[in-house]
Amino acid sequence: MIVAYVALSLGGLAAAGVYEEFRRRRFEPGPSQDRIFRCQKCGYVYTDEPDVDMSRCSQCGSVNAAIEF
Ligand SMILES: [Zn+2]
Repeated sequence: MIVAYVALSLGGLAAAGVYEEFRRRRFEPGPSQDRIFRCQKCGYVYTDEPDVDMSRCSQCGSVNAAIEF
């Protein structure tokens, strides 16, 4: 009975690991679509929606333009 329980929990762990790996692989290819902003006032780096040109810094409230690559 204990063996079955251990096998079951190990199987659950493996399934969770596979699921996590699958999820990571699905999201990782290519850079994130979010735009990256760096605050010119306080230097805080943050991201925002891709259709946003100017985003407000959540640390100090000043508005910054997206970093272009
Ligand atoms: Zn700032």
